[in-house]
Amino acid sequence: MTKLNRRVFILSGLAAAGAVGLPHLAGAATAPSPRAAGDPFQLGVASGDPRPDGLVLWTRLASKPLDIGGGMGSAPLDVQWEMATDEAFADVVASGTETATEADGFSVHAEPAGLPAGAEFFYRFKQGTFISPVGRTRTAPAAGTDPGSMKIALASCQHFEEGWYHAHRFLAADEPDLVLFLGDYMYEKQSGRDTVRGYVDFDEVDKLDEYRLRYAQTKLDPGLKAAHAVAPWLTVYDDHELANNWWGGQSGWPDDRKSASFRAYWENMPLPKSMKPTGPSIPLYRRVGWGTLARFHMMDTRQHRWEQAPNGDCDEIHRTDRTLTGAAQEQWLLDGLAAGGSKWDLLGQQVFFAGRDGDGETGSCDVSEDAWDGYHASRQRIAQGWLDRQVRNPVVLTGDVHRHWANDLRLDYFDHDAPLIGTEFVTTSITSTGQPGSSDPPPDYVQFNPHLNYVGNQRGYVRATITGTELTAEFVQVSSVVEPDPAKVTSSVSRRFVVEDGRPGLQDG
Ligand code: FE
Ligand code: CA
Repeated sequence: MTKLNRRVFILSGLAAAGAVGLPHLAGAATAPSPRAAGDPFQLGVASGDPRPDGLVLWTRLASKPLDIGGGMGSAPLDVQWEMATDEAFADVVASGTETATEADGFSVHAEPAGLPAGAEFFYRFKQGTFISPVGRTRTAPAAGTDPGSMKIALASCQHFEEGWYHAHRFLAADEPDLVLFLGDYMYEKQSGRDTVRGYVDFDEVDKLDEYRLRYAQTKLDPGLKAAHAVAPWLTVYDDHELANNWWGGQSGWPDDRKSASFRAYWENMPLPKSMKPTGPSIPLYRRVGWGTLARFHMMDTRQHRWEQAPNGDCDEIHRTDRTLTGAAQEQWLLDGLAAGGSKWDLLGQQVFFAGRDGDGETGSCDVSEDAWDGYHASRQRIAQGWLDRQVRNPVVLTGDVHRHWANDLRLDYFDHDAPLIGTEFVTTSITSTGQPGSSDPPPDYVQFNPHLNYVGNQRGYVRATITGTELTAEFVQVSSVVEPDPAKVTSSVSRRFVVEDGRPGLQDG
């Protein structure tokens, strides 16, 4: 058995064994707290937002995950957590107790502090006599130190009904240091296509209890649980966590629905308490550093954007005040890029950044109005912004489109000889749109868009290794999302690209 197979075995073995000896969990020695009615850890465990001295440990109690309320009643429940340097929990370095409440959907967001930087840990939770599965996580390297290299994975778009999350099992087996989830964690609407498994029946979720239930159903998938348990995640939402193609920078979407969506998102992601929404807004965009090697600028391209322009409306699309980020986030991003201090600056965000010319006409306004092409001036301010600030290695990391893409970035996408200014990797969906048919882009499209180096039509994820001299990205595809049996599904690398330090754009890897 390989090391990582052994680990997956151990993780699932511990989960099944339940009450193995736990000398370090203090619950038994103190007054008994109310107990859940059945195993409350069916939604798994997760960690996220790693810092040099701490991170977030997450779980959410649900004894009956597919019932409204999760079968948890209304009484608060104490949940113990502990972190150790070893999988057997012989060397416990931090522990504590959190109270899970009905108001927070019985989610737990523990925030151990004072941890050593750049270190691996194992963690678990206890409620009554129930013990959670074990998760693995790590803190970020100390500021100003060079970790030498890191492994990341990119994922997005996992419509539960459209496939099995085999991609997550392969992602977990890679044991990345950090996972970026770039949006569409769940879908508010049912598929409408051929489905391999059904959502609990709502026409369209728009209330807090319904959003909560949809996350719970999504999280029952064992592949997703394994991916959460293997590494800390940095998560941002896209549209379907609320509603298709929603925008927030102008009025139009009701505050009560935004409040419900943001609340459920926070409850179900390994996000810190400081991000807990109190109404129809959530402080989502944030920055995580990985020593002197990399910084991850996690962006919110929904909450602060203007409404999409009508397709073909050149006056609107070319308005110089149009914004996808909002002014405050744009300034936050540019200030962060100006601060420097890392070799690679990675922009984790949702929608297609590179220009896409569908008809070969310079300046055409027949664009994908939800993506950066529909917010032309907003994109130019950011791209020119990183040039002005002499950002060494800007790399945009994207989800949304259910295809793999590898793109060279330019200031002007209609000038095919313009210098390259950066690189974009777009990860395909974990499952969304299901098993692909054959749909290569038309030959014209390749000719109109020579900066689009690669498109892959399969389901999967992207994995990348980042060092001081290069970023190597691999586009991973799975053989099936409709085959339920994991033993019959394989993964393969469809393309590999390298970005060299100080040289924007893609090299064959
Ligand atoms: Fe999607
Ligand atoms: Ca989307």
